This record gives sequence, C-alpha cells and structure tokens, in this order.
Amino acid sequence: MNHSIHKEKITIIGAGLVGSLLAVLLAKRGYRIALYERRPDMRRTDISAGRSINLALANRGIYALQQAELMEKISPILTEMKGRMVHDIEGQLNFQSYGQKPEEVIYSVSRGELNKICLNAAEETGLVDIFFNQRCESVDFKNNQITFVDENTATQTLQQFSQIIGTDGSASAVREAIHQQTSQQHEIIPLGHSYKELRIPPGRNGEYLIEKNALHIWPRGGFMLIALPNADASFTVTLFMSNEGNISFENINSAESVKAFFDEYFTDILPLIPQLTKDFFSNPTGKLATVKCSPWHFKDKALLLGDAAHAIVPFHGQGMNCGFEDAWELIKSIEQHAGDFAKIFAQVNQNRKINGDAIADMAIENYITMRDSVRDKKFLLKNALAFE
Ligand code: FAD
Repeated sequence: MNHSIHKEKITIIGAGLVGSLLAVLLAKRGYRIALYERRPDMRRTDISAGRSINLALANRGIYALQQAELMEKISPILTEMKGRMVHDIEGQLNFQSYGQKPEEVIYSVSRGELNKICLNAAEETGLVDIFFNQRCESVDFKNNQITFVDENTATQTLQQFSQIIGTDGSASAVREAIHQQTSQQHEIIPLGHSYKELRIPPGRNGEYLIEKNALHIWPRGGFMLIALPNADASFTVTLFMSNEGNISFENINSAESVKAFFDEYFTDILPLIPQLTKDFFSNPTGKLATVKCSPWHFKDKALLLGDAAHAIVPFHGQGMNCGFEDAWELIKSIEQHAGDFAKIFAQVNQNRKINGDAIADMAIENYITMRDSVRDKKFLLKNALAFE
C-alpha cells in the first residue's frame, strides 16, 4: 500500500503497547508521528516493562498486529495456550480446551518484548520520532500546546500539536486535560483487590515444570492464582487477592504467613516457587481498578485510546487486546473520513465506548463468578477464568 506523506504531525502520548502499535499503523499510512514516553527507552535501559510481565494475546489483538504487518516478528516470541488448566485444592487437574479447532488458541507473550518490537517497527518507518523521559504534564487546548517535564532534569518544555492521541495508560494526563474541558463521566472504580507477581523458574534441564501450553488457574473463592508460560520455560504466576479482610494482602504480611497461606491453598505449586517469600516482599502489589469515562475525545484535537480510555480489571485477558482493536478502529475511521479529525474522533468514540464499557463489566463479573462459585465444582470448572 502506497500512502503519500501527510504534512501534519500527530502527537501520541505514551509509548506503551497501544501507543507504539498505533505509531506503526499511522506511519504506514503516511502520518508523521511525535511519540512521547515518560519512561526511559526500554530497549536501552533495563526497566521492568510495567505491570504484568506476560499477557494473553488473542484474536482481537492479533488482527491489529497483522494490519501493522508485525506478526512475522511477533510469532517467534509467542507461546501457545490451548486451554485452561484448573488446579483444584486437592491438586487435581482439569484441562478445558479453548476450542475444537487447532487455531482456537490464545498466546502468552512478554509485554516487554512485544513493546520493543512495536517501538523498533515504529522507528523503522522513518516517520516516527520517539522522545523518552518526557512526561506530559498538561495540555492547553486554547493554544494547542503540551507541557512536558523531562524526568531526568525536571526541565519543562512546551510543544505545539495539531492532533493529540492519549495512550498514556490508566492514570492518563490527556484524559485529565480532556475532562477539564468537557466531562459527562469520569470514574475510577477500585476493585478492592490487588495482584502480586511471582515466578516458577525453568526445571534443572531447562524444561517447563507444569504444562507448557495452558493458562493455569488455581481458583479459591475470594482469591486465586494464575500462571502463564514464558518463552524461557519459566511461568509468571499472579496472585489476585483482596486488599483487606481475613485472607488479604493486609493480613498475609510476614514470611511465615505467606508460606502457611500457600501451604494451605496452593500446595501443589509451593515447591515450584523457590523464591516465594523474596518475590512476595520485593515485588510490588498492583492495585486493580476500572476506568470509565466519556467523552473519549475533545473536538478535532484529542482522542483517548487503550487503558487511558478504558482500563479494565484483567479477568478476561482483554485490556491490551481491546486497546489494539481501538488503534485499528481509528485507522478505519481515518480511511473513511480522510483529514476530518472531528468526525474521525467522534466516530471512534461512538463505536468503541460501548465495547469498552461492555468488556469492563464482563471482566468484573468474571471475577465475581469465580469467587462465588468456588464451592460448586462443576459450575466452577465450567466458568473458571475465561481469558479468551
Ligand atoms: P500502558 O500499557 O499503561 O502504557 C501507557 C504508557 O504511557 C506507558 O509506557 C507509560 O509509561 C506512558 N505514560 C503514562 N503517563 C504518561 C505521561 N503523562 N506522559 C508520557 N507518557 C506517559 N491485557 C490483555 O489483553 N491480556 C492480558 O492477559 C492482560 N493481563 C493483565 C494482567 C494484569 C495483572 C494487568 C494489570 C493488566 C493486564 N492486561 C492484559 C491489561 C493490559 O496490561 C493493558 O490493557 C495494556 O497495557 C494497555 O496498554 P496501553 O498502551 O493503553 O497502556
């Protein structure tokens, strides 16, 4: 596809998963992009890729990555998950296939590696300039100016913009700016539960210690563990638990209580997490919340996509997938209404907001289903975490 180069530059705030993929998609259609990221360049500095080391990539996300012609580079870093492996409290396993056909699978992918591929691809287009360590502090819509703060030197700079797309995650500065202008809804709804990441390392001979091609789940009522495979034969294990109450992050707060907790509820996995207490106390506890806001755009000037518009709790494994779908929806609208950004942004808002709200509610329901259904084994096995 040959696209002529557009005169105007689009400014994207946030070079996470959605922002970096969007930069590729837009540049391939001839747009010049200025992409600003608060953190250092993850390809050069050893920083954690942020929350959740690995993610479930499903069809919605794959479709957008295909449109960016990135799947050839991404396929080698994917680990197939053919279904859920449910571990009951007695240590019995129940495998539930995601589908009958071989292609009905989802994939585990490293957040960091996926992000790096998108950043490289964006730069390779020759149309994307990426500015790291630049935090968007505020947006002045009257004068079309963004204030950035350099995270190393605290120096402030002003940049002009024509269109700004906020892919700056759940605590979005662009969302704040839009909602200072116009706000019908702006809710951040805490789940009251948090998560902690742990690790099952590879076996002595570099082998996977539990089934490689599955998304593992240990459902236990008000709390649960999941594990996704990594390409190096390790698993990233995530504990989801209440912030307060009897079994909670507040109460399980010593090496003894962590060990006793795992010994009682996750007996089969305990020997496979040798660094349990070290990881438990050195890894952060991530809070979970849903963001619902409206509108997602301001006139022809600004649009929110990804978690900035609709952060959701992770119990359907769809946050990134929906964000990638948002990016593709924007491209489709651009192709329909070439150059008319007021129409483009309004159309994306209209088409995607309803989907964002639906998946946000489904993700919470799925967590509740899990917690309330734990005593009914048959029901539990049928409804265990979807991640589809
Ligand atoms: P982010 O990934 O948050 O990226 C935002 C970027 O903007 C970051 O690089 C940040 O540094 C930058 N930034 C922030 N503020 C500023 C600023 N003011 N100025 C400049 N830059 C800024 N989704 C799935 O699809 N599948 C899964 O299996 C899955 N599992 C998950 C598990 C957990 C525990 C969690 C918490 C989430 C999970 N998600 C999953 C959701 C997924 O992580 C998010 O939906 C996804 O990261 C959203 O991408 P994003 O680019 O919109 O935002």
